[in-house]
Amino acid sequence: MTIKVTFHGACGIVTGSCYEVRTAKAAVLIDCGMFQGTKSIKELNYAPFAFDVAKIDAVLLTHAHIDHCGLAPKLMKAGYKGAIVATRPTADLLTYVLPDSGYVQETEVTRLNRRNRQRGRPPVEPIYCRADGEACAKHVTPRASDKWFDAAPGIKARFWDAGHILGSASIELLVEDGTSRKGQPLRLLFSGDIGTGDNMLQHPPRGPADVDYLFVESTYGDRLRPKVTQAQRSATVRREIQAGLRAGGIILIPAFAVERTQQLLFDLDYLFEHGQLPNLPVFVDSPLATKATSVFAKYLRRAAGGAYATAFSRPNLHFVEDADVSRKLSRLQSGAIIIAGSGMCDAGRIRHHLKNHLSNPTTTVLLVGYQAPGTLGRLLSQAVPMVRIHGEEIVVNARIRILGEYSGHADQSGLVAWVRDRLPVAQNIFVVHGEEPARAGLSDALVAAGLPKGSLRLPQIGETVRLTASGAKTERIRSRVNVAAIATFDWHNAYADTVLALRRSLDAAGSDGARQGLLRRMRALLNDAPTIQSKARSRHL
Ligand SMILES: [Zn+2]
Repeated sequence: MTIKVTFHGACGIVTGSCYEVRTAKAAVLIDCGMFQGTKSIKELNYAPFAFDVAKIDAVLLTHAHIDHCGLAPKLMKAGYKGAIVATRPTADLLTYVLPDSGYVQETEVTRLNRRNRQRGRPPVEPIYCRADGEACAKHVTPRASDKWFDAAPGIKARFWDAGHILGSASIELLVEDGTSRKGQPLRLLFSGDIGTGDNMLQHPPRGPADVDYLFVESTYGDRLRPKVTQAQRSATVRREIQAGLRAGGIILIPAFAVERTQQLLFDLDYLFEHGQLPNLPVFVDSPLATKATSVFAKYLRRAAGGAYATAFSRPNLHFVEDADVSRKLSRLQSGAIIIAGSGMCDAGRIRHHLKNHLSNPTTTVLLVGYQAPGTLGRLLSQAVPMVRIHGEEIVVNARIRILGEYSGHADQSGLVAWVRDRLPVAQNIFVVHGEEPARAGLSDALVAAGLPKGSLRLPQIGETVRLTASGAKTERIRSRVNVAAIATFDWHNAYADTVLALRRSLDAAGSDGARQGLLRRMRALLNDAPTIQSKARSRHL
């Protein structure tokens, strides 16, 4: 009898979480997440699943972030009929997150197909649409934390509070027909994303000790962050917003709809209530963030008797649902905060606001979360002089400020502490869900903390391991993709970069003659003899 685990995503990158646990009797997926980041990484979402959908018995979701749940509707579209299980708050959030994701796919593909038509390319289908997201969310079965349930034949599961976002969980599996030391079922623990422990909206992470195999995330595995109290963080937000007001322009905050937006609203509420900021208007310009906030209000009201909910109902706080109202926000030129998704600026209404305001030196952009390589948010954080949004070149004159104080993820010391609390781990620890330097950083820190180096494994996407009585053995690696080659700077990024460099060189050239010369040399390099004009002429002949 064997138990196998296949890593279908989130190894060497932080997105596309999906781990398949298979026995002779059953198979479950831990997460079914979407790939995010460079266009090449995102294209992985369009590829067929690397497993037989009909042979999956259950999907267990750790939390409602799209890189952990975003391909569940695609799974159902591909014929999946089994259970999808999540904690109750996660199930509530998914009723908004999954349809919104479908809507984002639809709008992205509409735009892409417009361009494909112009370029004479065939149209593409969205991965799934809003209706698929709605159907999938309805299919989710909520389960209480801390209680065992039967996930699939021979596999029991239990959620543990991971402290990352509302509803987030680590998932413990008890797998029969296993090969553990004492003839007992094999115990596996998947961390999901681990919180910092000092998130005012969430409890510190919890979990069992004494498991056979541990799968731990490593998003910030190579970083140590000083502990930040809520007062310190609020003070930083105040300073940044005051500086933004002094600069005289609008303050844009690309924010993640779930958790980060609500944390920001709390901090802003505190600053307004204590007279540390003038009561300037705050617009939450994200239908998803608005709906997620209602879910937070529901759970926080239960937990704290309503004390928390006031932060979400201030007179100067406006939730913008309507797209027309969102467009009208472009008339605002100063004295307001616009919080809009997406957090990494790769989709959503924030792109329109950035297009409107990035060239203005009085604009302030506050980046308050992780920015995946290749995303517009990452480019802005790297202080690039020019970006492309919806095919247009936009000069970046705005003040780009990075607030490292917000994080939903434990840093290196937090992750090491979390792993220590799980010891002993009888067999291997798999370090997943991190870019390569982060995985290496966490592995080194775990070794320094006394864990035997041989127990640590850094699996690849497409790798299948067999869990045996003497540890995990790699059975095969069916790599779909060379992640390292496309994770940080793919050809799409290089293309945009080249176009922008050409534009700058043309602007800097002294005369039209010099510009013509430059373009001639470029064409010669491309070995592209016929010009567009001569092609047009030949067509007329
Ligand atoms: Zn997450």
